[in-house]
Amino acid sequence: MQQVYNLTFSYAGQWLVDHGVKAIHAKDLYRFLYKDQPLTAPLQKLQDTLKKDTFSIHTKLVSQDGTIKVLFQLEDGYLIETVLMRYSFGNIVCVTTQVGCNIGCSFCASGLLKRQRQITAGEMMMQVKMMDAMLQEEASTSHVTHVVCMGTGEPFDNYDEVIRFTQILTHPHGLAIAPKNITISTAGIVPKIRLFAQEALPVHLAISLHAPTNELRTKIMKINQAFPLEKLMDAVDFYLAKTGRRITFEYILIADLNDQIEHADALATLLGQRDCYVNLIPYNAVMENDYRRPSQAAISAFFDRLMQRGILCTVRKELGHDIASACGQLRAQHQHETQR
Ligand code: SF4
Repeated sequence: MQQVYNLTFSYAGQWLVDHGVKAIHAKDLYRFLYKDQPLTAPLQKLQDTLKKDTFSIHTKLVSQDGTIKVLFQLEDGYLIETVLMRYSFGNIVCVTTQVGCNIGCSFCASGLLKRQRQITAGEMMMQVKMMDAMLQEEASTSHVTHVVCMGTGEPFDNYDEVIRFTQILTHPHGLAIAPKNITISTAGIVPKIRLFAQEALPVHLAISLHAPTNELRTKIMKINQAFPLEKLMDAVDFYLAKTGRRITFEYILIADLNDQIEHADALATLLGQRDCYVNLIPYNAVMENDYRRPSQAAISAFFDRLMQRGILCTVRKELGHDIASACGQLRAQHQHETQR
């Protein structure tokens, strides 16, 4: 893919200077790349260099609820999964940040493929851009409004590209997604949480917690060995103090593993008075493991207990149930079929 999609706005100016055009035309370049405006006169001489890029679409599934799940094929042949979800408040794209993942969470279909390579900022932009184009095919006024880095990969294991991506994504001359509408989710790479707390961009942070004790968390998330809960919560406190922004904790509810009332109590105790919010995600069963989704009664009981304990939480509304909705499931399915 063309390097130009990797350029933050200030580097776009320098890139133009390197190609004999004044930096002041960076605005026109961004509008050409991200708003589909034609090349302005000063950029015409770069028309052979500035080609519109797209990914090829390997598979596209559309759910009855409007969720779109796409396997994009990268230039080097790797397949990555991107999802568009529609909510009453806007359209969310879930972006993949790595080809494969080395974190090795035991419940995750995405992590079955070890990390093959990093996704560049430009390739992340292209995922959003292509989903935005699909929305506009349906209705010209419909746009992507929110972006979450929650697809395949650990965003903080690709830190620099993810930060560059947020800078390009939020720029007013580009797609101009509001920083408050962007969420980056990490399994808990502590030094990067501390670094992220000091970035200028006010985008949201979500932490995949999934268990309230070290024993249980280490069982399902190997990363807990390197960064146990004490270190993680220290970094969370640093982030809260530094940014003043509420933090989200993701908690996948898995039947008979982490979904009991005692787990809700331990979670409430762990989070204490922190300014946070818990997103409860009932597990989507996948063929690669034996984990199961809890009963509706268990989900409600867990939710009620957290609320009683004063922890703000919601149960994530499930979308795309009919189209392999668990993260990485579509790519994993494709891999199974290829292996067969
Ligand atoms: S849940 Fe996220 S961090 Fe864990 S293995 Fe899957 S993609 Fe990697």
